[in-house]
Amino acid sequence: MSVDCVLGVVIEHDQGETKPVSLEVLSAARKLADQVSGKVIALCLCQSANLEADLFIQHGADQVQFLTHPDLQHYIHENYAFALLGQLKKYSFDYLLLPATNNGKELSAVLSAHLGVGVATDCISLSVNGEGDVVAVRPVSSGKAHSTVRFSGKKPHILSLRPNIFRSPPLSRQGETIEEEAQLSELSKKVQDLVKQVGSQLDITEARIVVSGGLGMQGPENFKLLEELAEVLGGAVGASRPVVDNGWRDFSNQVGQTGRTVSPDLYIACGISGAVQHLAGMSSSRCIVAINSDPNASIFSVADYGIVGDVIQVVPSLTREFKKILAS
Ligand SMILES: Cc1cc2nc3c(=O)[nH]c(=O)nc-3n(C[C@H](O)[C@H](O)[C@H](O)COP(=O)(O)OP(=O)(O)OC[C@H]3O[C@@H](n4cnc5c(N)ncnc54)[C@H](O)[C@@H]3O)c2cc1C
Repeated sequence: MSVDCVLGVVIEHDQGETKPVSLEVLSAARKLADQVSGKVIALCLCQSANLEADLFIQHGADQVQFLTHPDLQHYIHENYAFALLGQLKKYSFDYLLLPATNNGKELSAVLSAHLGVGVATDCISLSVNGEGDVVAVRPVSSGKAHSTVRFSGKKPHILSLRPNIFRSPPLSRQGETIEEEAQLSELSKKVQDLVKQVGSQLDITEARIVVSGGLGMQGPENFKLLEELAEVLGGAVGASRPVVDNGWRDFSNQVGQTGRTVSPDLYIACGISGAVQHLAGMSSSRCIVAINSDPNASIFSVADYGIVGDVIQVVPSLTREFKKILAS
């Protein structure tokens, strides 16, 4: 079969464990490839070729390329970009797709700057137009409008895809796997030594459940209630901006216009009023539960389920109930 278009997908993993969002990106690439006689190549940068190649093939890869090096066990953008740039020189890719996670957004920006090519970040929909070009839709102005993007000029065109949007079930497919040793720069070792290993907390943009706290949590000490609930549900903890400004939580937790945009299956807003700047980061969640002591809080206008009550009492009760239900 002749191939008219090559789509590369950068697989994201956490210390060797594939992130589910990578499978979503592969599925999205497969759908495009099927419309343009395309080939999907999964690019796995890792310490050794021990990630699940079969899973990548089932989600749409025609070929899985393992680029291995001991310094690729953890994501460090200098190393990942260096290894990928080498691969992009060897093979000619038309499109390169990445998850719009913290790492994926950083890597897509770094690659686009190095290569002098265009990048469309945080895409929520992809299609192919009459000329066979990929057309991407991405939210702009804090989600108030959508912009439709088409590429021209130098390739590869880079796209990062918003997590939790492009899910598809695995298919029974065949594909090939190859392994190459990645070349890293001399800088690699120095960078490796400089990077402090931070705990492998779930990135809120990828989490399927986000339990978020606002000023109604009344202090940083009460966020442990949200951590307990998030742990029981396998989710991540988010926060409103004033919570971050107060230093109660790290900026990586901030949801909203000036923070992260999340689209989880379930968003539990605890003691958050529902200002437009907060809604800009979470209103595309599939199900929103709001807990607030003020029955007139704006958050209830976007919530699917609302609980009027004190978060300090409601959250531990929810945690207890979910624990019981999930245990049975
Ligand atoms: C340019 C700009 C960018 C911004 N970007 C962001 C952003 O990215 N993200 C963001 O979140 N905000 C952002 N903001 C701030 C935003 O306007 C709001 O000020 C902020 O979202 C409010 O945070 P909050 O809901 O935690 O606090 P508040 O508005 O003070 O709400 C606290 C809520 O907790 C409830 N409450 C109090 N006690 C309890 C209790 N015991 N139990 C239950 N409920 C209780 C109250 O009824 C209230 O509704 C931005 C603002 C500007 C101007």
